[in-house]
Formats: sequence, structure tokens, C-alpha cells
Amino acid sequence: MNALDIEAVKALLASPKKITIIPHRNPDGDAMGSTLALYHFLLKQQHDAVVVSPNEFPDFLAWLPSSGKVMVFEKNTENCTRRLQESDLIFALDFNALHRVGDIMEPTLKALDKTFIMIDHHQFPDGFSKYTFSDTSYGSTCEMVYHFIQQLGLKSLIDKTIATCIYTGIVTDSGSFRFPATTSTTHRVVADLIDLGIENSAIHNQLFDTSSYNRLQLLGRALQNMKLMPEYKTSYITLSQEELDHFNYQKGDTEGIVNYGLTIDGIDLTAIFIENKDEGIVKISFRSQGSFDVNQFSRNYFGGGGHVNAAGGKSVRPLQETVAEFERIVKEVKK
Ligand code: 5GP
Ligand code: MN
Repeated sequence: MNALDIEAVKALLASPKKITIIPHRNPDGDAMGSTLALYHFLLKQQHDAVVVSPNEFPDFLAWLPSSGKVMVFEKNTENCTRRLQESDLIFALDFNALHRVGDIMEPTLKALDKTFIMIDHHQFPDGFSKYTFSDTSYGSTCEMVYHFIQQLGLKSLIDKTIATCIYTGIVTDSGSFRFPATTSTTHRVVADLIDLGIENSAIHNQLFDTSSYNRLQLLGRALQNMKLMPEYKTSYITLSQEELDHFNYQKGDTEGIVNYGLTIDGIDLTAIFIENKDEGIVKISFRSQGSFDVNQFSRNYFGGGGHVNAAGGKSVRPLQETVAEFERIVKEVKK
């Protein structure tokens, strides 16, 4: 955040305020980690802080400190709306366009006349926030929250609880420190978090070693469904609603499956298509290695966005049609 904005935010936070913190819809480890880190930090400064998530977060994040205090807009719309309307300040974390909170919550946010502060690492922020800390060079919003607190001159307030939340988003968004946005600074931040007492190995275990048997069986089906387009260095996976139901799909069960598509030698673009009959959409995740820009690809063809090497999108067409369309586009853009 630039020096002027930091001074303005410092002044805003100088006296206790009513503050609401929002992650994007379908929050992941970085969205939940960053919002809860900021929540604990603001509580320590005597603010009245609350996290309002657009919808439920997955079970594999339920161990995060105070996740039980998170309000869910789509479940508790009336109270969440009142809370937003009563707030002095709203932090938007890990998203940079209002529509990322989803169709149900977006109109409420749009109707608010409030000061928004955004902290985010996705490309092309739209202009809804008064104060903006937007930088695509960061691997996670959690790492940005660490630097934000440091810029406020309050790093000494980061305790084990806040550090645990920050570490969660750094680990999940960096693919356990393997994605290219992982820098020496990332590792220095993590070193500091470990010095603050986080149990890094136990956190990793909570995040990645708590699968159900069904989840692994679903992963097995997903891998068997994988299709290759070797001449286009592309792979993709599909999961139909029927398959999800068969393996008693729980929110979070498909997290990370898309990455397997890139583990095949010679593949630089992969996707997973997940049918969601409730919402009448196919949710798509894209991943790439090297210079193929899936943020642009998803923006151009699948109404989404994200980062150069990791993006999401959706389609309202049936699963098979969506996949056929994807194949056609890949052949066109990668010929
Ligand atoms: P995932 O594939 O894990 O859902 O998302 C990959 C990245 O793209 C994440 O940073 C996520 O926030 C972003 N993303 C996912 N879906 C969308 C979308 O529909 N629109 C935009 N702009 N970004 C998305
Ligand atoms: Mn993120």
C-alpha cells in the first residue's frame, strides 16, 4: 500500500471502529486465513471486528482460530446485512471485484455507502475500494496481510494465532511453497511465523491429511476421467454431479485435484470441470505452467479470472458441451 494510503488507514484505525471483513465466495485457505488473521489483529486493537463470508467455508478450514465466529451471508442474510450497514469500515480480502462475493451478496455490498479497504493479489482490480493494497507479485493475500500489519508499524502485535492464520494462506496458495510467486521474502515471513510459535507441520497436516475415504475415491475417479490432448500440451478432468453424489461429495473435496493435470510430463495447461446442478453451472478451474496465461484465457472464454497460472471460471452450459467448447478453444488458441 502506498505511504499516503497507509497513513490514512492508520488514522482510521487509531480509534475503535466497527469493522467487517469479507473474503470471496467459496473461500479457500488464503481467503479464510487472511480474513481471520486480520480479524484477530483488529480485535487486539480493541476494534469490533467480524468476518462475513458470502457462503460456507470448507470443513478442512474449520480448525482455524475463531472460524466458528464467522457469519455466513447466504445462511444469515438479515443479520449479515445489518452488520454491514452498521459498519464503519469494510475490508475486502483476496478478491478485487465485487461480483466475486456472488449474486446473492453483491447487491447488498453495492448498495452500501462505506469505506472499503482492499488487500488482494489478483490481476485487474476494479475500483470499488477507497484504499487499495493490490499487488499481483505476492503469492497470497495472507503474505500481504503480514506486510500490511508491518507497514502499520504494528508487527509486534502478530502473535501465534494471527501467525497461524497467515501461514495457512501462504501454504495453500503457494502449493506448499512450490508455485513461482514463492520468494525469499515469503520464506523470511514464514521463518518469522515459525519463530512466533506456529506449529507448521501440524497446520500442514490439518490442511492436507484429513481427507475422508470418499474424498480419495473421488480423486481416483477424477484421475481416471482425465483426458489428454498431447499435441496441445493440455489435459483436463471432469466430475459430474452424479459422480460427486456417488462419493458423497463434501465442500472442499475437489480442492487441489486440478493440479494433478500438470504433473504429467509435457503438459502446460490443465482444467477441471465440476458440475454443480444446484447452482446450474459447471465450475471450472484452470492451471498452467510457464507463460500460458489462464487469467486471460478464463476472462476471454469462461467469464472468470484469477492469476497467470491459476484461474477460475464457469459455464452455464451442460458439462459435455462445456468440455467440447473447451477443446475447440484450446485447438484454436494453441494451434
Ligand atoms: P480456483 O481454481 O482454485 O477456484 O481459483 C484459482 C484462482 O482464481 C484463485 O485465486 C481464485 O480466487 C480465482 N478465481 C476463481 N474463480 C474465479 C472467477 O470466477 N472469477 C475470478 N475473477 N477469479 C476467480
Ligand atoms: Mn489468494
